[in-house]
Amino acid sequence: MTDCFDTFSLSQPILRALAREGYTKPTPVQQAAIPPLLSGKDLLACAQTGTGKTAAFSLPLLEILSRSRANGSPRALILTPTRELAQQIGESIERYGRYLKLHSAILVGGVAQGPQVQALRRRPEIIVATPGRLLDLLNQGYVKLSAVEFFVLDEADRMLDMGFLPDVRRVLGALSPKRQTMLFSATMPKEIAALAAQMLNNPESVSVAPPASVAENIEQKVLFVRQERKNDALSSVLKDKTISRALVFTRTKHRADRIARLLLKNGVSTDAIHSNKSQSARKRALSAFTRGSVRVLVATDIVSRGIDVSNISHVINYELPHDAESYVHRIGRTARAGASGTALSLCAAEEVSLLHNIERLTHCALLPMTHDFHCAETAKLAELPRAAQRMTQPNRRQKSGLARRNNSSSRRKTNSPAKWNVRQHSN
Ligand code: AMP
Repeated sequence: MTDCFDTFSLSQPILRALAREGYTKPTPVQQAAIPPLLSGKDLLACAQTGTGKTAAFSLPLLEILSRSRANGSPRALILTPTRELAQQIGESIERYGRYLKLHSAILVGGVAQGPQVQALRRRPEIIVATPGRLLDLLNQGYVKLSAVEFFVLDEADRMLDMGFLPDVRRVLGALSPKRQTMLFSATMPKEIAALAAQMLNNPESVSVAPPASVAENIEQKVLFVRQERKNDALSSVLKDKTISRALVFTRTKHRADRIARLLLKNGVSTDAIHSNKSQSARKRALSAFTRGSVRVLVATDIVSRGIDVSNISHVINYELPHDAESYVHRIGRTARAGASGTALSLCAAEEVSLLHNIERLTHCALLPMTHDFHCAETAKLAELPRAAQRMTQPNRRQKSGLARRNNSSSRRKTNSPAKWNVRQHSN
């Protein structure tokens, strides 16, 4: 394995763009994926957003596309489940390819089709799309996929969760079988394994971090609190000015709006993002949050995956998610690209079983937080099984979390990749 980009066969324009990004060392998924992709192999990667997977597929794709001439039709297609992720990947590709003469277009729903049709008229080589809008444009004859040489299916498990697999199969049907294919998924449910077997040809397999693992540089805390005091507890927690940029998760859109209104009333700069908002409102909220003009973004699980905003200091779960894997995705929005962060979960008595599910999945006991709103009864409810769990599973991550609290320098965001585990094997 190599630890610098120069040793891959990447051309100068790409290396210059990487230097401009400040990337000095490939992340594990990049180390494992770039060489086989450059040699033309298919790839099956178990990796989630935050591992550097976008560059892992984009760099070989840009390299290979730039070596031969465009033929006027799209040559690369990247399919993602959400509009935000498509936008983000499109922007990354623009940056990595800034010194190349390649064009890309982003095709997503929720916005007018006209500008995307215009973008297609400029004959982009690369298309980043969500399935619905892509199929619409395909059916209307605005785009042809028969010349696609590279197909990336990103966040395949999320596609499955969102019910997009039939659309993905339709897109697959429009592609030529003569292509290089890459499938990325954070987890590998059996439906995705079956899809991979169908669409990949003798792939290289890469796995960074086991499914549902939590980055070690996230300090995970829990505040046991009465349900009816959650609003006050949240407002009180947010008085802490070290919480510089916080993503607050709720289970419902309605509650996300309600909490955003409450925080605004309390003088906290806040916005909300969920699927009832128009695409332009979602974009506005995200960019205000990214710029720092909004300190708190209240969100539903629509942004629990895929969204990459740097320097999110805290993820706060106003409510615990029903499904423990969502917890892992939510808190993965902090501690990006090797930085550290804090995840705080407000847990009411009725959520204790959800807390235990999370602790079972992540093999990690959350640290109870001392706070004026701490509810001893709820803590007691949670404590018995948690104590038993701690005895059977000594907790490496939480130990490192405790150590970090005495070491403020480790809070600085670094541009070096996090320590991911990587497994690689060829079929
Ligand atoms: P991704 O998983 O592609 O969403 O990437 C997560 C974050 O890691 C993004 O902010 C990237 O800019 C950053 N990143 C990707 N590759 C590297 C690298 N080799 N060195 C430093 N940061 C990186």
